Amino acid sequence: MSLYLKYRPKDFDNLIGQEHIKTTLLNALKEKKISHAYLFCGPRGTGKTTTARLIAKSINCQNPLEFGHHCNECFTCKSAQEGSLVDLIEIDAASNRGIDEIRDLREKIRFAPSQARAKVYIIDEVHMLTKEAFNALLKTLEEPPAHAYFILATTETHKVPATIISRCQKFDFHRIAIAELVNRLKYIAEQENLNYEEEAMEQIAKSVKGGLRDAISILDQLSSEGNLTLDKVKKSLGISDIAAIENLFQSLIDKNAIKGLAIINQIYQQGLDLNDFARTFLEYLRQKMIEAVNANSVSNLNLILSMIEIFSQAKLKINSSVIPQLPLEIAVMEICHRIPDIKAQSPNPNNLDKNNTHHGNTQNLTNKMADQHPTTSNPQSIMNNQPLIGPSDSPLPLTPSDLLNKWEQILNLIDPPAIRQSLKQSNIKEIKDSNITLIFNTAFHFEKFNKAAHICSLENAIKQIFDTEAKVTCSLEKPAENSEQSPIDKTKEAMDIFGGQW
Ligand SMILES: [Zn+2]
Repeated sequence: MSLYLKYRPKDFDNLIGQEHIKTTLLNALKEKKISHAYLFCGPRGTGKTTTARLIAKSINCQNPLEFGHHCNECFTCKSAQEGSLVDLIEIDAASNRGIDEIRDLREKIRFAPSQARAKVYIIDEVHMLTKEAFNALLKTLEEPPAHAYFILATTETHKVPATIISRCQKFDFHRIAIAELVNRLKYIAEQENLNYEEEAMEQIAKSVKGGLRDAISILDQLSSEGNLTLDKVKKSLGISDIAAIENLFQSLIDKNAIKGLAIINQIYQQGLDLNDFARTFLEYLRQKMIEAVNANSVSNLNLILSMIEIFSQAKLKINSSVIPQLPLEIAVMEICHRIPDIKAQSPNPNNLDKNNTHHGNTQNLTNKMADQHPTTSNPQSIMNNQPLIGPSDSPLPLTPSDLLNKWEQILNLIDPPAIRQSLKQSNIKEIKDSNITLIFNTAFHFEKFNKAAHICSLENAIKQIFDTEAKVTCSLEKPAENSEQSPIDKTKEAMDIFGGQW
């Protein structure tokens, strides 16, 4: 017996994920308010048919337990479990489009159940039914006999006619979270006395896009080969070596197109899946993006965001390309030759000002970066994190990014707090030699801060932190509308590419 069947949940307690559905269904079962037609939507392997069978058991259980649970001991529970309950009818619409089955269903549905209290029809991949079959099904759903229940499951809801959907109570099954998948895989491995590396389980979980059935199938395939190592998992999944990923990243940072192209070709020659390589590379870039945000490194972030955008586009083109590796090669060329070399540059003061104006002020920028990384919420620790790429400390004279990086510390040296608040409302307009120009958006804060004593205390704070003399001037300006995307906005956009999970 396959591990998937062996560990298929026999009760709602062991159903993985889908808490929202579990709770609603158990309540309905408890209150005996089960709907006569359900539509389960969601990706493959997320528990749709498993849940359907659990409902069938609970509806028919002869000794129902508390809170809607079934006993797993009575005749109907046991025969449903073994697949021998004649009143539990499963139809796979994908295999023959259901014409005969639905006709049969229409003919027999009026007859009372023979073994159980109710007949339960589970129609899997219901979107595959023919138009005629859908019409026949619709007539049945319009007036179902009291003893009949329908559970329709689909991976493609948009292909199910609206007339059918409107007759059903609809549940959306979610992709199962990686942590939950890993837990389940580890549980099964332990039950089966399999030795495993933690990373191997994580790799399996990451590769299945939230589908538990696929995850368990991979575990099953690999379980016969002894220890479950990360290496074995990667090999079996055709997952690219992390070294190739890191080398590609470095070659892009170095703008070394020849090396970048060689890596892409090597991956292709090894027969590895280019789609998978691109996905793994994007995951790696995402990690780098988070690190860059964490390090408050705007210039690194821009380069990484460009890489993410270009490689996301390239990945979409792999399958339709005549030469499979070509889209990735073009991506390498684009990054090496078209993206301006921003890693070694200090941020342009004008751009910096625009970004800050867009977001209100320097304080906001710092806060937003801190907010994006919940584990490092202390601004001090963010400031101390060194960027991964390029110089971490610029030599004198001061640059706007120097000032931004230490802004929090500078603010802390400004007293009284009311004046500090006013200073927070300013942006750095420019730094020329040692002359820093701050710009205020409101006259109120400008007038409050623009006093010799406060400017002097700011200059002292800068001297204390950077050990350099600076002259500060303040100016007042109306905020300009600016539609240019800031790095933070671009980060959010990039997050959407990854499904919004940080
Ligand atoms: Zn039972």
